[in-house]
Amino acid sequence: MAPESQAPAVYGIIEQICQPIPGQRVRLVEGPEYAILQACVRCARCLPVCPTYQETLLEIQSPRGRLALLRAVEEGRLFLDEVVEAHLYHCLDCRACNVVCPAGVAIGESIVAGRAASAVQRPRPWWLRMLLENALGSPRAAEWAALPLRWAWRIGLIPLARWLSACFPRLKDLLDLVPYPAPSVRRELEGRPSSSEARYRVGFFLGCVMNAVYGDVVRASVRLLERCGCAVVTPPDQVCCGAPQDDQGLRETARRFARRNIAAFEALGSLDAIVADCAACSGFLKEYPHLLADDPEWASRARAFAARVRDLTEWLEAIWPEDLVPVAEGLRVTYHEPCHLSHVQGVRRQPRSLLFRMRGVMFRELPNADRCCGSAGIYNLTHPEMSRRLLERKMADIASTGASVVVTANPGCLLQLEWGARRARLPIRVRHLSEVLEEALSNVAERAAPGV
Ligand code: SF4
Ligand code: SF4
Repeated sequence: MAPESQAPAVYGIIEQICQPIPGQRVRLVEGPEYAILQACVRCARCLPVCPTYQETLLEIQSPRGRLALLRAVEEGRLFLDEVVEAHLYHCLDCRACNVVCPAGVAIGESIVAGRAASAVQRPRPWWLRMLLENALGSPRAAEWAALPLRWAWRIGLIPLARWLSACFPRLKDLLDLVPYPAPSVRRELEGRPSSSEARYRVGFFLGCVMNAVYGDVVRASVRLLERCGCAVVTPPDQVCCGAPQDDQGLRETARRFARRNIAAFEALGSLDAIVADCAACSGFLKEYPHLLADDPEWASRARAFAARVRDLTEWLEAIWPEDLVPVAEGLRVTYHEPCHLSHVQGVRRQPRSLLFRMRGVMFRELPNADRCCGSAGIYNLTHPEMSRRLLERKMADIASTGASVVVTANPGCLLQLEWGARRARLPIRVRHLSEVLEEALSNVAERAAPGV
């Protein structure tokens, strides 16, 4: 037989040999534990809370469907190929499913582990790795990246580009998403003297987006902590928390960042808490024990570190002095819950409780307050259509409250909701909880000043 005619047959045999054998367990490096996947009893309780399932009504876009995909891979019935990988990335990692699952399946964590396993087999795109490993690998790099953006705003380039792109909706959408970065705050915090008389000594975790884009929010957070009796210390060696890297399958990078952060905060000595004003950061810092569970040198250090981590809203609510009364007469406010605060950390009551402390505030509960706004890390860039659908729902809910301010506690949500307000031409301000509280306390100080 001629070699040419043999070739297709040989390829066929090779393909057959390479096919996974049903019934055989496939061990995925970094993959989810098979026992966790097996725990799903297919009850469907997670379907109504999953935003991607609700939008598509497709089983493959549901928590249960994604677990079934991973189980098929680990049972050797499917390859972890580009198609499976794409389905795993359709998930928002909002963890709404985790909260309702009666079998306690760690659904979100398993899906993210599936992404990590896939990244071991097929490296993530070079540009993504460059962004997540280098630009976010040092606070200085993130600050440098924000500089040209600030100048583009100052000389009017961004508003001009937005106006010129009116005929190109996708480009316009992208430009509408570009924030105005406030001056970064890192150096200011690192050199800030802290009082030795304070009731609490708190280590401040400075998220990279908070530092590079929302410096003014961080200033407000630190002032609030100090008003509540905290000495705030910010270690110079901290880096990104690792959440964006882990979300994109770069688990080893996330581990590297986690070790650096643990060491940076250990060097500060005794702390009452490690506080972050970014819900995604505080949520991920609490997950360090899971991330470093198999590292004998770091596992116990990660547990000690995570035990002291508090989201800013959680910490402030616990220590807020009774005689500190913010005043916000007539402010109509609603609250959007960041997924990584409500679903990941279970912090739901505390942000509302802080808002209720403001005298004169008119609080309007947001329908579906804990449904994802579609930001989800870089999901709004990688899955613009689904992200926009979720954002439109969110903006309609916000509009229905009649509030003039929507408050949240996560930079991704801030960016997304600001974008949504611009797109929907909604006359509403999007603020971080720290800004609203600090402003309300400054009102009191201003009123008190003449009589002092
Ligand atoms: S709620 Fe839990 S057990 Fe039920 S289908 Fe969803 S993942 Fe499976
Ligand atoms: S994490 Fe969110 S998007 Fe992903 S499966 Fe669960 S509910 Fe759905």
